Amino acid sequence: MPERSTQIEKLHAVGRYALGVDWADRHESIIPYRSIRRACPCVTCSAASPDRALSLEAEQLLDVQVLGGQSVFVRWGDAHETVLLVDELRDLCRCARCVGEPDYPISGR
Ligand SMILES: [Zn+2]
Ligand SMILES: [Zn+2]
Repeated sequence: MPERSTQIEKLHAVGRYALGVDWADRHESIIPYRSIRRACPCVTCSAASPDRALSLEAEQLLDVQVLGGQSVFVRWGDAHETVLLVDELRDLCRCARCVGEPDYPISGR
């Protein structure tokens, strides 16, 4: 299996509502728990409306672990569990670099 460029160096809480991710390529993400919960790919969550209201517990992160460097396991306050691929977590990064700064337009525009 080829080495993946997307690897997590460290996870840490940023305030009470966001997860900080230090990536092996020196990128840093701050991802709100809400975004992670809404990205949950499980059958229950993908069947539910993306606009549904989430309870406070549902956005409360109890535990987060990197599994084998390939995926991230999250346990929520409402006992729900989410497993995201590391790449999927990286896709949730909304920093200027990942979203595309106006100074550096995406090619084709
Ligand atoms: Zn889910
Ligand atoms: Zn980013």
